[in-house]
Amino acid sequence: MAELWKVEDSLDLYGINRWGRDYFSANRKGQLLIRPSSTAQNFANVKEIVDSLRDQGIQTPLLLRFPQLIADRIQRQYLAFEKARKDYGYKGRLRAVFPMKVNQEKEVIEDIFEAGAEYDYGIEVGSTPELLAAVAMKQNNRSLLICNGFKDYEFIELACLASLWRKNVILVIDKLDEVDMIIEAVGATKARPMIGIRMKLYTRGGGKWAESGGERAKFGLSVPAILEAVERLKKAKMLPLVKMVHYHIGSQISDVKKITNGIREAARLYCELVKLRVPLRYLDVGGGMGVDYDGTQSSSSMSVNYDMTEYANAVTYTIKTICDDEGVAHPEIITEAGRAITAYHSMLVAELIQKSPLSIDPAEIRVRDDDPLPVIELKESFDTIGPRNYLEEYHDAMTHREDLMSLFNLGQIDIETRARGELLFRAVCRKALKFMKREEKQEDIEEELSDVKKILGHKYVMNYSLFQSTPDLWGINQLFPIAPIHRLEEEPKETGTLVDLTCDSDGEVKEFIDYRGTKDVLELHHPNGEPYYLGFFLLGAYQDVLANTHNLYGPTNEAFVTMARDGEWKVTKIVRGSTSQDMLEHMNWQPRDLMQTVEKLVVDSKEPAQVAAGKDFLRRFRRALTGYVYLHTGSNGAKRRRAERKAAGNV
Ligand SMILES: *Cc1c(COP(=O)(O)O)cnc(C)c1O
Repeated sequence: MAELWKVEDSLDLYGINRWGRDYFSANRKGQLLIRPSSTAQNFANVKEIVDSLRDQGIQTPLLLRFPQLIADRIQRQYLAFEKARKDYGYKGRLRAVFPMKVNQEKEVIEDIFEAGAEYDYGIEVGSTPELLAAVAMKQNNRSLLICNGFKDYEFIELACLASLWRKNVILVIDKLDEVDMIIEAVGATKARPMIGIRMKLYTRGGGKWAESGGERAKFGLSVPAILEAVERLKKAKMLPLVKMVHYHIGSQISDVKKITNGIREAARLYCELVKLRVPLRYLDVGGGMGVDYDGTQSSSSMSVNYDMTEYANAVTYTIKTICDDEGVAHPEIITEAGRAITAYHSMLVAELIQKSPLSIDPAEIRVRDDDPLPVIELKESFDTIGPRNYLEEYHDAMTHREDLMSLFNLGQIDIETRARGELLFRAVCRKALKFMKREEKQEDIEEELSDVKKILGHKYVMNYSLFQSTPDLWGINQLFPIAPIHRLEEEPKETGTLVDLTCDSDGEVKEFIDYRGTKDVLELHHPNGEPYYLGFFLLGAYQDVLANTHNLYGPTNEAFVTMARDGEWKVTKIVRGSTSQDMLEHMNWQPRDLMQTVEKLVVDSKEPAQVAAGKDFLRRFRRALTGYVYLHTGSNGAKRRRAERKAAGNV
């Protein structure tokens, strides 16, 4: 007999106790809890937040941001490096910067700098708008502003000028041509910015971003080019400005060995350049610190086999040993970790739009003697399938279904017969699944089990856009943890994939994280008449800016939430999501013009039915323009519509 389902079983099933270990748990009632750090006593009830916002008219899909989680990540990174510094007797300090391309949302950046102020946390920019925002930001003069990416003369000049007010600008040479532009701009502006050199390492980071490292990398100078750049700067008497070398061998580096390999090569290059009298002071180890999205703590591409402490230890220890061997002073270490800092802080809550189940009892399906053979055989399978023959019957059923479809296409059976056949086929599969689940040797039937789950799996419609809220799921097959935010005390007895609102078959989540790799369907709860919410987690890195507006589904509602004591929480800011009008304007449609055209249509109408409905049509058209772009779901909608019709007198 199966044991009673417990909340812990859900935490295990959805991996919440693995990928969400530090920040997520659940209460006895099966509702998801979030806390600001792994040691914090305070927490917030996510379902409670969603309900409360809904009551105030802030609908799902809803992006929840928890700035305290950003603060925790920043603090942890800093403490990990501090500890490593003490443990290994390292002489340089940590000078972390936030790579702005990971998340440029103003509020997020402000939260990062509030939390990072005490650690002189800085910023890294890679384009003109990022530079403009960073220069105008309030930051102390000890924190760094690093300029990466491909640059034109205007960008370089602006950065030079900014350095006259802010003493901490580092201009990084990403391509050899930039050297001459930097020499020219420094001469013209009389500024003294620091100069960095991005190195192209031979070492690769591995995983999805392996191409960011290695000889064929997009950015950086090869070793001969570095020597050439140094030569040119020396000639221009600008060698004293060269303070930093930098590299970045890719994001989400899963294996700590790859990280160590990169650092070893970079530290060797650092020492060699110091020996050539380049007055370096900073070694920038780039980003790449990964996030354990699937909770396996492994070197799989969705995971990492290290934590922040191990990362800090690997970096610090490797640089120290190499510098000590070469008799070179320890550099200050710059990290540009982005993903690992912001990924945890945001989650999307979206509603699953309940399907109305087709309730036909297969036992009631009548089969006649003159029915075609496949239907008769399917009925027989349904009646005789049992714990001993279920595999055979299941395989036979697959064949009978093939035959059924061929006969239909040949015009030999009618639509009603086909329908009965299909119902019987699914009924056989359901019984087979039941027996498969009871099988002791699950590994023997792994393939069949996975297939039958797929056949029986539902396609659940989610009120969200995959392209807007989880763009990496589409673009690079990145997986994010997904789990219900309530009902975790109940066993989820259904399975299915998740389809989004866009009219694009790519808008489907059909691979899910799992302890043993990935799975094709997600376990979900049977509808109970209440709204059912799923959370999409760890969305805080890259998803905000890569979001796109397929089908004109734009930004979702957002709420910033701070946790206080005793389960108390506070919404500190709400950002309204996109209206249909916003999205149309985005594509150059003027809502005024649309409104006027439709008004003209109504004014010109002659048909009695058109005349009668004209006012109502205009009112609804206007309301739709200014409404949230996502679906207005839930029982409230039906109730409101009834009340409206009653008020209008046409019940
Ligand atoms: C993207 C990027 C980063 C951030 O990488 P993460 O993997 O998110 O830590 C850091 N530095 C540079 C130069 C980058 O391009």
